[in-house]
Amino acid sequence: MKIVKEIEALKSVLNHVRGTFPSIGLVPTMGALHQGHLALIRAAKSQSDYVVVSIFVNPIQFNQVKDFENYPNTLEFDLELLKKEMVDLVFIPSTKEIYPKQVGLSLSFPNFDNMLEGKFRPGHFNGVGIVVAKLLHLVQPDLAFFGQKDLQQAYVINLLVEGLSFGVKIVVVPTVREEDGLAFSSRNLRLGLAERKIAPKLYETLSLAKKRLLHKKTWQEVKRTLTKELEGIDSLKLEYFELVRLPDFVIVQHCAADAEFALCIAAHLGDIRLIDNEIIGFHPE
Ligand code: AMP
Repeated sequence: MKIVKEIEALKSVLNHVRGTFPSIGLVPTMGALHQGHLALIRAAKSQSDYVVVSIFVNPIQFNQVKDFENYPNTLEFDLELLKKEMVDLVFIPSTKEIYPKQVGLSLSFPNFDNMLEGKFRPGHFNGVGIVVAKLLHLVQPDLAFFGQKDLQQAYVINLLVEGLSFGVKIVVVPTVREEDGLAFSSRNLRLGLAERKIAPKLYETLSLAKKRLLHKKTWQEVKRTLTKELEGIDSLKLEYFELVRLPDFVIVQHCAADAEFALCIAAHLGDIRLIDNEIIGFHPE
């Protein structure tokens, strides 16, 4: 497994790789790897001939300095995992390498910037869009792999690559969960014992809501009762719980039978912010 820290070295390795391997798959991550990341890597291994994993904690996508500073770093452990998964190349650039100077542009996603993650994390999708665009240009993969866990992000990236003709196929991999339903997330490492016990409530809520909607309960009623339950839990602060229409992420008040929807939730447990989602009427491969 090659470990590369500099852009020039990355380009030189990949120039050689391109002549030898029919397809390159890229899995962008921020490290502190877990089973969710491994699912993306395994999908990349099965669908492409040469797999690049990037580990870069992107400062410009964090809207809270503390969240950035406290982001877990388990690099040694990550590299061991990646070796075991037979990843071909790991790209671990420094912040200076990716941002030698301030980026003098911004990306806006008008249908997303004021919605859910875009609304509660101002500037987040600009930061995500810029770093993903950079990584896609540097690696020039045939396929790039993202998690359903960050559903809105996956749609934003799709918009970016389609809108600007990047010529890369975006593959969205279903969310991987712990046994109790909690979606794997690097931030789970920072949950206290009490918060960790409460955390599965998010997915429990999504699953119950989906079940009730499929049993023809109204969204107003489902949202009201489940929100009330969550608001009764000490140390959980609900940020949003919405039903959105896909693919445009418009917040809706009811489901129609012939479209796809997603239930999206975000909450703070102590200092940690968690998000999750459940798709209704959509079955990813
Ligand atoms: P991160 O390191 O948190 O930026 O995540 C890197 C990629 O892994 C993103 O595309 C995430 O959506 C994806 N990911 C994170 N957690 C999960 C999970 N539990 N299941 C599937 N994919 C995930």
